[in-house]
Amino acid sequence: MSDGVAVVRTDGSWAMRNPASVALLGGVTSGTGTIADPGHYGLFHPDGTPLPDADMAHTRALAGEDVHNMELLVRNSGVPDGRIVSVSARRLLGDDGVVVVFHDVTAERRQRDELASFAGVVAHDLLNPLTTIDGWAENLDDTLRGMPDTAAQRDATDSLSRIVRASGRMRHLINDLLAYTTTRNAVIAPVDVRLRDLVVDVTTARGDLAASGATPAPLFALGRLHDVHADPVLLRQLVDNLIGNAVKYTAPGVVPRIEICSVRIEGDLVRVEITDNGIGIPAGQHEAIFNNFHRAHRSGGYAGTGLGLAICKRIVERHGGSIIATDNPGGGSRFVFTLPKATRREVAHAVKANARS
Ligand code: ADP
Repeated sequence: MSDGVAVVRTDGSWAMRNPASVALLGGVTSGTGTIADPGHYGLFHPDGTPLPDADMAHTRALAGEDVHNMELLVRNSGVPDGRIVSVSARRLLGDDGVVVVFHDVTAERRQRDELASFAGVVAHDLLNPLTTIDGWAENLDDTLRGMPDTAAQRDATDSLSRIVRASGRMRHLINDLLAYTTTRNAVIAPVDVRLRDLVVDVTTARGDLAASGATPAPLFALGRLHDVHADPVLLRQLVDNLIGNAVKYTAPGVVPRIEICSVRIEGDLVRVEITDNGIGIPAGQHEAIFNNFHRAHRSGGYAGTGLGLAICKRIVERHGGSIIATDNPGGGSRFVFTLPKATRREVAHAVKANARS
């Protein structure tokens, strides 16, 4: 078989392994019958950072964790160009070791990364002509305003406003595509963040935005919010996306009421919940909404691209957490995600996401 399979005893020695498991590691073996340190095999995280001993799949599985599709970069004299291997590991029944499975995903990852960077370049290049369209539309608007109020002038103004709206939608889509490709590729720089400060910032901005338009100001109720260990820029994007959706997907005339709180859970994680009183998610679509371009409310005039939640999922997963959507028992939706807890007890105030631009 082309997948590698190995059984590792509790003392770190191999009980068995198939030829593919050796080949996938570039033919490098410890020569002792016991697994050597990750540096010996040239094992790295996919972003090229060295893999610590404690992150080895068999070590984590021996500690009781189910390791599922953990991606590793293998680079050594046997595979000088590097190979991306997906590794899964779990304890055997009877506690006498772990089974480790290796699967080569190099081709898939390269293709995915190429597509993502292609999308990024295209999105970036599309912004230029769009800016030109907006500029000329503004020009035309000025000209039309200076013309006498006739049926033809009103017709032209109406057509122009449609062009401007379409261009706004396109800008939104392009920016989402760019955000999606950057959250995919950017190296994350996690630090301890005061989640409460960040949520206060985001909710205040949302209130200001509502005040500047004609929409009712959303009501926010903040419960306990624990400090987390995350990339502040991506965390802001995550929270802003979820709160933005919670405000957006409410029925006309309903004042959005949004509760945000967190709890500490096992595994050094913080679980954050964002609950709204909105229109809710149609049955059977609670998972699909996290797919690229999936929109559950196409009618009803809710603008969007269907990329926001895919970005959120990506951000949470890059931090080792998970995200789900459920129904709010009181009507509306609840988004629940996990992130690592802060490493220090007290986190300094005002870790501003925009400080890293
Ligand atoms: P969009 O740009 O369409 O808002 P998202 O990826 O952010 O894209 O969300 C995907 C879909 O999930 C939305 O089109 C909407 O149908 C649904 N959705 C997201 N958030 C909520 C929410 N808070 N309440 C109800 N439906 C939601």
